[in-house]
Amino acid sequence: MDPRGDVERGKKDYPLCYLLILMQVESALLFESLEEICSRVFRTIRPRTPVPPVTVVFKKFANANSLIRIHAGVIELKITDLLAQAPSPIFEALAYILISKLFRKPIPAIYNDRYRLYLNRHDVREEITEIRVARGRKLIHPPAGCVYDLADLFEAMNAQFFESKMAQPTLGWSRQASRTILGHCDSAHNTIVLSKILDQPQVPRFVAEYVMYHEMLHLVHPVETRGTKRAIHPPSFRAAEKKFPQMREAKAVIRQLCSRLSPR
Ligand SMILES: [Zn+2]
Repeated sequence: MDPRGDVERGKKDYPLCYLLILMQVESALLFESLEEICSRVFRTIRPRTPVPPVTVVFKKFANANSLIRIHAGVIELKITDLLAQAPSPIFEALAYILISKLFRKPIPAIYNDRYRLYLNRHDVREEITEIRVARGRKLIHPPAGCVYDLADLFEAMNAQFFESKMAQPTLGWSRQASRTILGHCDSAHNTIVLSKILDQPQVPRFVAEYVMYHEMLHLVHPVETRGTKRAIHPPSFRAAEKKFPQMREAKAVIRQLCSRLSPR
């Protein structure tokens, strides 16, 4: 769960001009699928060559690398799923980088910079680490925390919203007190990890419960894909989330909690 999902996702650390450019680019790219983005980039890099078919798949790589190759006349991109939630301008930049590399052309600096800036963003690096941690599983802390026991939170939410029918996944606290990723659900490993920042006496119980409920919903409402467009929080997810009575209050506390910490 990204606490700024509805508010100002990752915009804190960035100069305003960069954000405005990113927002403009994003609105222009909003209706392009990943394959369409790649085809358009291909036309720019090789204007006189007919555009071959393009496939884009997300792969569970252990790092932030992505691969490109031509196989049987098809350009195949394998993108790390750590970028599955990245905004379209980042995919566009990555497409420029990969397709330029494929044809041994210089990578336009603007796209190289855009991509590197994104990967170097504090919250993105933190997210990549958290996902690796969740995948490695051995690196998460046990569910019984200092203040809250994740098993208790899970059982409470299970009883309140799922008639206690949901099987308990592996639960753990994150090692790092992440302020950008408050929770993470890895359906592949059936694991829910909550940021240890929530395991403090000043965090009201309903806030920790809300984050747990949010992550549980991810197990019930999988990511919806239309072509290569992915909805992490599809409408059915959002509708179910609204059933949490103190959602607004919880989000307000989360915003405060995350802004109170000084950025590293
Ligand atoms: Zn979420």
